[in-house]
Amino acid sequence: MSGIEAADKDMTMDADQAEVARVEQREPRVLVEVQDLKVHFPVTRGVVFKRHVGDIKAVDGVSFTINRGETLGLVGESGSGKTTTGQAILQIVPPTSGRVLFEGNDITSLKGRAQRDMRRDMQMIFQDPFSSLNPRMKIGNIVGEPLVVHGLVKNRAEYDDKVDELLTMVGLAPAMADRYAHEFSGGQRQRIGIARALALKPRFIVCDEPVSALDVSIQAQIINLIEDLQDEFGLTYLFIAHDLSVVRHISTRIAVMYLGKIVELADRVSIYRTPRHPYTRALLSAVPIPNPRAERQRDHSNVKGEIPSPLNPPTGCHFHPRCPDAMPICREQAPEFRAIEVGHYTSCHLYD
Ligand code: SF4
Repeated sequence: MSGIEAADKDMTMDADQAEVARVEQREPRVLVEVQDLKVHFPVTRGVVFKRHVGDIKAVDGVSFTINRGETLGLVGESGSGKTTTGQAILQIVPPTSGRVLFEGNDITSLKGRAQRDMRRDMQMIFQDPFSSLNPRMKIGNIVGEPLVVHGLVKNRAEYDDKVDELLTMVGLAPAMADRYAHEFSGGQRQRIGIARALALKPRFIVCDEPVSALDVSIQAQIINLIEDLQDEFGLTYLFIAHDLSVVRHISTRIAVMYLGKIVELADRVSIYRTPRHPYTRALLSAVPIPNPRAERQRDHSNVKGEIPSPLNPPTGCHFHPRCPDAMPICREQAPEFRAIEVGHYTSCHLYD
């Protein structure tokens, strides 16, 4: 490359960087920022004089960011605190401490009207499409209710149009609006839940294990729908799942959670190709590979035993009783969560 070409390239890069900076100034890249979030549930004993005997540390100092338009996968076994993290971000469960910023504004302190306005931008798709829909309401009303609560429709005709539009958006026929939830299959019910979540035109959605209650044959259809809606409306997702196979295709980055803490966070490719934390490696060993030969040859050292109680977590690294690589220091000292490569974070003494 000649000196002039190199100089031209540098100038182009400078121009590109300046444009990125201008765009970021207008519209910062980070949409949601979670700072040292904790959700502790007090445990008491005694009927009359309730004695505080400890805390269940469901979420214990979690920090991460979610960029506009990306999907952050949040993965871990049951009891790891991932659903509570999603609920605390949306203020469905009040955080014990820490902050959640949405477009730079702290939403943890919002009350009344301000909190209701925030709700329009941040929605949730629930895990269980069987129990999350009111069985006494027609599905048109389930989908349209948020429009009425937030005063977004002026009259019946506008309401009906919007409900039709929402049902169509998720692949259901508008004529189905007069039926009840029990008349639908699991996959269709999850589509209804998604239509309701979209009613307020949110920008951020917490998808809380949206396919784990569905047949495997239906899971891909719902994940494709969630991805298509993201492309169409520029949505940003926190996608919660208990296994790494579900989030593989949908996630931009993946965070792995264990006993209230994030133990690894990286872009999708790094998590699958070079997982660093022994817990992530164990979770990955449970994910089937489509190639039978590769499947036979690989390590199947799934994580052993049960996740311990968050009321009385193990000392030092919480994963040490189940970790195949545990060292003496792991019982004594909690590892720091830090970057081991650009954009790849983990908490493990193997990388001290
Ligand atoms: Fe295993 Fe020790 Fe790393 Fe914890 S810190 S994951 S126990 S090697």
